[in-house]
Amino acid sequence: MTTEEIRAAGLALGFQSVGFASLSEPMHGFAFYRDWLAAGHHAGMDYLVKHAELRSSATQLLSGARTAIVCTQNYAQPLSVPAGRLKVARYSQNRDYHTVLRKRLRRLEALLAGQWPEANFRPCIDSAPLLERELAQRAGLGWFGKNTCLIDSKRGSYFLIALLLTTLELAPSEPAEGGCGTCTACIDACPTGAIVHGNDRWQVDSRQCISYWTIEHRGDIPLTIAEKMGDWAFGCDICQEVCPFNQPRPHQPLRAETTQDPDFLPAGPAPTLDEVAAWDEQSWDAATQGRPLRRARRDGLMRNVAIVQENLKK
Ligand code: SF4
Ligand code: SF4
Repeated sequence: MTTEEIRAAGLALGFQSVGFASLSEPMHGFAFYRDWLAAGHHAGMDYLVKHAELRSSATQLLSGARTAIVCTQNYAQPLSVPAGRLKVARYSQNRDYHTVLRKRLRRLEALLAGQWPEANFRPCIDSAPLLERELAQRAGLGWFGKNTCLIDSKRGSYFLIALLLTTLELAPSEPAEGGCGTCTACIDACPTGAIVHGNDRWQVDSRQCISYWTIEHRGDIPLTIAEKMGDWAFGCDICQEVCPFNQPRPHQPLRAETTQDPDFLPAGPAPTLDEVAAWDEQSWDAATQGRPLRRARRDGLMRNVAIVQENLKK
């Protein structure tokens, strides 16, 4: 198979773009990542510190790895949730993307293994200690915006990244190039001032980020953050919503094609906040099985919903 044929196979599996990054180069962003941790910007996500060194080289995740096959999954869609209903980040409205994307990567792996039985593979989706966005940039799939999202100039930033590490040596793609120019829309719009500058780069300080507090944090949320959460009960898309690369074009609600993938469209109408607040353990279990919302745990989502209900009274 040529890289073009591998790309075509990835697109046929439902990915929107596929690129190839060589792993012979060092991870240039690793020093920056270490400084980001040293500055405490990971907040309470201690697991990031624990496995930090693994991010210095993908070969630590797969011995002899030569190439990262990088795929993206579009979840672009308008988000209009009526007041009083559960508002969650776009990517999290349906199934857990880890499960969906892992299945697709496994199918891609099976195709490649049929052609190259001696090769080894490892699918990585978000949870593996890897500088995924750097590899995606090197694979030509987007460049770093000031909001730290990867931006594809034609498709915006509403996409997830899935990687298949392999011992195969495949021709690398041209790295993506682009930039924000003088735009500061995301920095200006972030309600908590979480996008900060340091080490010559814009970065997100998770200690100020609504996504961190509503998804990762266990326990109370400080009042200074809670009052800025507005109606976001799980995650926050504000710094993507204001980005010109995600803005509408004529006859199209977003720059990206709105996803048609049922796994990334809302599973149904959002429940009301009152309904969610009344969920017992059993209802929680039924409503969140196989969904990203589970990451916040039941008490976390209840905490967020209570905050949003208070915010909506103001
Ligand atoms: S996700 Fe929300 S809180 Fe976090 S940086 Fe973006 S706009 Fe700010
Ligand atoms: S909003 Fe502007 S500054 Fe922020 S990522 Fe998009 S283009 Fe860059």
